[in-house]
Amino acid sequence: MSSERLPMEGMFIAVTGPSGSGKTSVCKALLERFPQLRFSVSLTTRPPRPTEADGKDYHFVTEAEFRDRIDRGDLIEWAENFGQLYGTSRETMEAALRDGHDLLLDVDTRGARALKKARPGGIFVFVIPPSIEELERRLRGRGSETEETIRRRFDNALSEIREIVWYDYIIMNDKLDAAIERLRSIYVAETCRRERMMVKIKPFFERSGGI
Ligand code: ADP
Ligand code: 5GP
Repeated sequence: MSSERLPMEGMFIAVTGPSGSGKTSVCKALLERFPQLRFSVSLTTRPPRPTEADGKDYHFVTEAEFRDRIDRGDLIEWAENFGQLYGTSRETMEAALRDGHDLLLDVDTRGARALKKARPGGIFVFVIPPSIEELERRLRGRGSETEETIRRRFDNALSEIREIVWYDYIIMNDKLDAAIERLRSIYVAETCRRERMMVKIKPFFERSGGI
């Protein structure tokens, strides 16, 4: 394949938001609107929620399997949340980007930090609920967790929000439609960056005698 025909490497958007901020709802809507955008399916040892499917929302694995992946260096990032392990496959992520696909990742603040170190060119977005009271309401409203887990998720949310200072964008999820529109705008704007467009507009320069 000539270098002209190689697709440009895809971009990735890492979305973080405390549990209950609504990031899953916002991410799902974005994925429905942009078929070229792929969801990076994480591995987790957490049991599936009733609405979740293996291989689509997560790859649900045993702890032994997860630890084996860590030992083999297969995970580009991983973290423990609420006693469960979550991580991103290095090979799956890199292969998708290499093939020119854009990726959407749902990771916590530690995962996002590790990705920023490994691949500083990513886009880092933090989804925040409109208030602390609303965060608690949403955590309860989901109805999939015990009281103890809700409490742990709530306390963890408050410490995760302190990491917001180094993110590129902040999306306040007050109204879901407005939050989806904010993420859509970020993605569209990022696809228009000059560095990304240069590959596509190369023929103009070739016809006009180079840059
Ligand atoms: P996360 O992935 O951040 O834990 P979810 O997307 O699962 O959050 O949302 C948590 C709960 O809040 C769900 O019941 C969801 O339907 C609800 N929710 C999400 N966004 C909003 C919003 N803007 N207004 C009201 N409820 C919302
Ligand atoms: P949940 O159990 O609500 O699906 O996710 C719990 C937390 O784990 C959320 O903060 C979510 O962003 C995070 N998470 C999900 N997948 C990954 C992953 O691959 N890596 C890391 N570091 N965190 C993840």
